Amino acid sequence: MSREPSPWRPGRVYFPRCGYRQTTNRKANLLFSPKSGDAGTVFCVPASTQQFSRLTGTGFSVIRKNTRKRSLSLFEERFGIRMRTYRYEEMTPKEFERAVKEMPIFLVPTGLLEWHGNHLPLGLDGLKAHGICCRIAERLEGGIVLPANYLGRPGFSSYLGTLTYSESLVNGYFYELFHQLKKIGARVIFVLTGHYGPLQVECLERVAACFERENPSVRVIAQPEYQDIVCHETIPADHAGLWETSIIRHLVPELVHMEELERPVIGQKVYDAPPNDYYHEDEMWQFVNDVRSATAELGAEVVEAVTDRAVNMLKMELKKQLLP
Ligand SMILES: [Zn+2]
Repeated sequence: MSREPSPWRPGRVYFPRCGYRQTTNRKANLLFSPKSGDAGTVFCVPASTQQFSRLTGTGFSVIRKNTRKRSLSLFEERFGIRMRTYRYEEMTPKEFERAVKEMPIFLVPTGLLEWHGNHLPLGLDGLKAHGICCRIAERLEGGIVLPANYLGRPGFSSYLGTLTYSESLVNGYFYELFHQLKKIGARVIFVLTGHYGPLQVECLERVAACFERENPSVRVIAQPEYQDIVCHETIPADHAGLWETSIIRHLVPELVHMEELERPVIGQKVYDAPPNDYYHEDEMWQFVNDVRSATAELGAEVVEAVTDRAVNMLKMELKKQLLP
């Protein structure tokens, strides 16, 4: 069976954009969908699903369900396309060099491995921060997103699967990281913490301020994602409740198991006298809001608001940093 020629040119880079882009070939009206798969990489498919099916022998819906890696390799294998990535760990040295030169903003998503109800993944905070950082980079059309970090301050230390760390370790880690990022060309560093609480947020704010004082050529901003965000007249922040569940339902829906909410939440306090015990959490966990109302749509609203705010702020900060 003969196959239509590919509308994509081997070796050509298709940059992420939301919407269609006209290329020289009319058939190559490409739809760039920032919501496809894992945030941070945008798949490009022909505007028509049937056209896509003809070209690849599969369908857009199938691609959306596949893992990002598989989708990437599918395109790369069949069309020889190298898609732009904002993820540090995926860049080639050349891509990295170009990205730093074009926009020396580094996005540092951080969280904690922590119990988040029985319906959510233990890495929710880092997954959330990473997903949002990738959205920010896509919107900026620049910047470099580091892999999610999970070294953080407490934390419900005695709840199942939770790992918490001391102030000196977290402080030292970020201080060294900022120095490394300065070495490789950072002018603005944005630490987005998906894990909250005064211990975490204040620790990050302190180390950011300290580094900035000693290194005025680098602007370091450390904030929780809900900073200055109001959604439906409230601050969209909680622990494993309506907001976090909605955000992760939007970013990584396959990791949310709402059916687990029907079981009573008991017996999650499993570690006696844990190190870094700060909250002395209760045996019984109480959700502070109606987590059952969580939706991907609500999560999308929050992510959109956080992204908007961060993009404006980072553009302004970079401009200030680059002033002669
Ligand atoms: Zn959380």
